[in-house]
Amino acid sequence: MKLGNLVQDRWVEGDGDGKPLASAVTGDTVAAISSAGIDFKAMLEYARSVGGTNLRKLTFHERGEMLKALAKYLMENKAGFYELSTQTGATRADSWIDIDGGISTLFVFSSKGRREMPNDTVYLDGPPEWLSKNGTFVGQHIYTSKLGAAVHINAFNFPVWGMLEKLAPTLLAGVPAIVKPASSTAYLTERVVRSIIDSGLLPQGALQLVCGGVGDLFDHLNCQDTVAFTGSKNTAEMLQQHPRVISESVAFTAETDSLNASILGPDATPETPEFELYVKEVIREMTSKAGQKCTAIRRVIAPSAVAADLVRALSTALGEVRIGNPGMKGVDMGALASQGQRNEVRERVGELSAEAPVVYGGSDDFEVVDADAGKGAFFMPTLLHCEKPLNARAVHTVEAFGPVSTVLPYDNLDEAIELARLGEGSLAGSVFTNDNQVARELVLGTAAYHGRILVVNRHCAQESTGHGSPLPHLVHGGPGRAGGGEEMGGVRGVKHYMQRTAIQGSPETLSVVGNRWIRGGDERTPDTHPFRKTFEQIAIGDTLHTEPRTVTLEDVDHFANFTGDTFYAHTDEASAKKNPFFEGRVAHGYLIVSFAAGLFVDPDFGPVLANYGIDDLRFLTPLNVGDTMRVRLTAKQKTLRGDSGYGEVRWDTEVTNQDGEIVAQYDVLTMVATDEHWASAMS
Ligand code: NAP
Repeated sequence: MKLGNLVQDRWVEGDGDGKPLASAVTGDTVAAISSAGIDFKAMLEYARSVGGTNLRKLTFHERGEMLKALAKYLMENKAGFYELSTQTGATRADSWIDIDGGISTLFVFSSKGRREMPNDTVYLDGPPEWLSKNGTFVGQHIYTSKLGAAVHINAFNFPVWGMLEKLAPTLLAGVPAIVKPASSTAYLTERVVRSIIDSGLLPQGALQLVCGGVGDLFDHLNCQDTVAFTGSKNTAEMLQQHPRVISESVAFTAETDSLNASILGPDATPETPEFELYVKEVIREMTSKAGQKCTAIRRVIAPSAVAADLVRALSTALGEVRIGNPGMKGVDMGALASQGQRNEVRERVGELSAEAPVVYGGSDDFEVVDADAGKGAFFMPTLLHCEKPLNARAVHTVEAFGPVSTVLPYDNLDEAIELARLGEGSLAGSVFTNDNQVARELVLGTAAYHGRILVVNRHCAQESTGHGSPLPHLVHGGPGRAGGGEEMGGVRGVKHYMQRTAIQGSPETLSVVGNRWIRGGDERTPDTHPFRKTFEQIAIGDTLHTEPRTVTLEDVDHFANFTGDTFYAHTDEASAKKNPFFEGRVAHGYLIVSFAAGLFVDPDFGPVLANYGIDDLRFLTPLNVGDTMRVRLTAKQKTLRGDSGYGEVRWDTEVTNQDGEIVAQYDVLTMVATDEHWASAMS
């Protein structure tokens, strides 16, 4: 019954009998939890020396492949997680958000890592900065993995997603994690960690687990460690003020309480689709996970004119919610995570109702399907209505972490904005309107107080992911009360576990450091045309200087007629002259790019498989009729695409005129066969 702690790749039990953990549904003991006797200092050192070292040997792409394999493995083994999840009070739909939602986060980060990051261990942040007149001294920002451990402290409400949404970017960053789930639902997290370890997919030391208190762990943190915390504002503040966090400047990100607002636009009167969508969304947010979502709608901000209609519609819908054993079909809402949690929500409703009367729920007398209401942590969905919300305080500051929301009426958009801001920083806000000007006003008026804002209308509602769903692609976090932190958001989330460093030096030095050629770096002239080389044979810096080509009037006329692009600047001398940029007719930009390809390609069958795009194309100097162009093509960056048999080669391309002026600059992207693939193609 006692939960395991994963310490230095071994499962160990904490000392003593442990604290019993009760089922949210039956009140029976599910497990006992203890981390007493664990050597936390040794855990941190093991993470840094073994886990970090192993992870940093892998490239972003290899780490991405690892996450994908892990996601697949967990997907195949999720049935047991679902079974156990019921004990946390979660319905099947709630568990889907937690379990499938968590696994899908692994998939998304895997994909982000392989598509948006290089097949390397260093991530370049933006283009080089040109710091000197002659271009011999440049700057480049880079990200490298922190050399510490990531300590993840999670809340009780999402025992699986809460772990995986932090773990995915951490592992992708090449950093090992020590996970500490909230005690009340740690049995589910422990089960998933056992599965992760059984998969054998993570390198040694990449993951450790603490079920119970963290002892003296914080006393041993150093400047390379990161703490990612999710939970209450009080705990976050206490941990942020730990002397070691302060003295070592330990990176600390906090996701805390949030009085999230959802605003109904003035156009969304009861007969509109937006009104109906709004009612559905508020009900969904109140009842999914029994309202125990940090992103749930707590404040229902609606026009005064429709407040009565809204209260009626919400009350009717809440009356149809079946509460009970979350394992039973037909039950819409399960239990809160524990009896303690239920008592706390009751108390908070008491505080709220002093300024916002209860208009639905708030009673202990309600029907519970297939469960003993006296033993399980069930709570009736409760709606409150505050008639003078601008003068109220509790409704904007007291978070009842359960199925509880308050209707707050407004008279004009400025008031709606002010009410939303009174939450003093939220994770998620939403706006329901079919008037895009209203949407703009509300979004711009409240964005500074939010980490994420969802705007719903009839056009996007069907595919909308909902107010309360943080997505791995988008940032999750918020200012002020919400903790001031930020997680996920694709590659942004990975960077939280890496250090950004500005590197200064010569272009060639920085080309080698970052594995990406910088203008001014060495140009190597290969003994064959670079298009005759395989992926492995191409070296960064391989350069081709083409023959010149003079662009004639006939070329421009032909291109205009052939493509249909007869824009006056290419066809009408008198009009072209009136244009401030040109002295007369000029060559089409696309003619320049096309002629450039004609100059640099090697036409015969070869390892270059395809041109798949151009990045960052800029036309800098017009090419006049009679001018002569030539091209420099330099291998800039290579990215092997797993074992697909090819890799991406990015070519820095510069077109100049007879005076050496830069006419056009861009990156040409090609797919190039590997040695093996090319050998088999040739055989
Ligand atoms: P909590 O009491 O602050 O606990 C959060 C986590 O901190 C748990 O893992 C808890 O472990 C741990 N913890 C508590 N004291 C600690 C200490 N001295 N040292 C190290 N760790 C410590 O919060 P909660 O009541 O479980 O969670 C509900 C709150 O979390 C709500 O206010 C909700 O809004 C917020 N929340 C926020 C987000 C978000 O993304 N922003 C998500 C979910 C929940 P134990 O359980 O072992 O005490």
